[in-house]
Amino acid sequence: MNYVVIDRGDKLSKQLAAQFHILAAARGLVRNDERPQMVVSIGGDGTLLQAFHSHADQVEDIAFVGVHTGHLGFFADWKADELEELVRMMAEDEPKIVRYPLAEIVLDTSEGLSTYIAVNEFTLKGVDNTLVAQIDINDELFEMFRGDGIVVSTPSGSTAYNKSLGGAVIHPSIDCLQIAEIASINNRVYRTLGSSVVLPQHHHCDIISRKDQRLQLTFDHLNITRSDIRSIRCSVSARKISFARYRPFPFWNRVREAFLGYEVK
Ligand code: NAP
Repeated sequence: MNYVVIDRGDKLSKQLAAQFHILAAARGLVRNDERPQMVVSIGGDGTLLQAFHSHADQVEDIAFVGVHTGHLGFFADWKADELEELVRMMAEDEPKIVRYPLAEIVLDTSEGLSTYIAVNEFTLKGVDNTLVAQIDINDELFEMFRGDGIVVSTPSGSTAYNKSLGGAVIHPSIDCLQIAEIASINNRVYRTLGSSVVLPQHHHCDIISRKDQRLQLTFDHLNITRSDIRSIRCSVSARKISFARYRPFPFWNRVREAFLGYEVK
């Protein structure tokens, strides 16, 4: 099996990456930074996001596995002292592959259309003033938004920024996107639903810029600023992210441990 390791860059993660390469070589695994079959992320959930975006063009041919060097993550389930066990399983066992939805975001700008994908979410905010945008669902006007911003999350991202905004936590086996508001202004001109909305796979939403405005867009941890956005189409991507599971990693156990503090047995 070909693999690549992406680490968070801190001392412990770098040490574990070096150790992983030694263990992997002894088990016959082949390091291949360009065309890996398995991407091993060592650090936290943020490291997995970086690993994903550095191999996003190969997403259909690769699987991810995460080692955490801090707290138990949503993407990283292996502990630092389990590295040897992980390498052994990678060499000897066939993992269960679980596939989670991604968000697809198509920007319509003065330069034409450009497409992005996100594991956690896409966010849109005004840079200089509040964001002013029309939100259409399935090509029909849904609401006129004015406020700090909009977050469009995948189910995997529902436990991240979306959760801080009061959005629902959604099991990643459900193919959908969730739209959450950040501090919307509600008056007679601008009126929004106020609660988050969940779109199924066959629906889409368009965020249409309603004034000349500088906008900040994020795709997971990546961000860009543009002044020429006409509209943004958000939908569930036809592509998915694959995780290699060598042992069970139930989503609701992770939610319970991360947010409620009860230990997972
Ligand atoms: P960061 O600002 O360094 O860390 C954000 C935190 O979010 C980290 O603790 C990270 O976990 C955690 N996280 C990432 N994905 C998660 C998930 N799917 N479920 C639960 N927690 C998750 O930024 P970063 O590490 O580059 O991560 C970017 C992410 O930060 C964005 O995708 C967004 O979801 C999140 N974010 C959250 C807020 C907010 O809640 N107010 C605001 C902006 C961005 P680790 O420590 O394990 O890496």
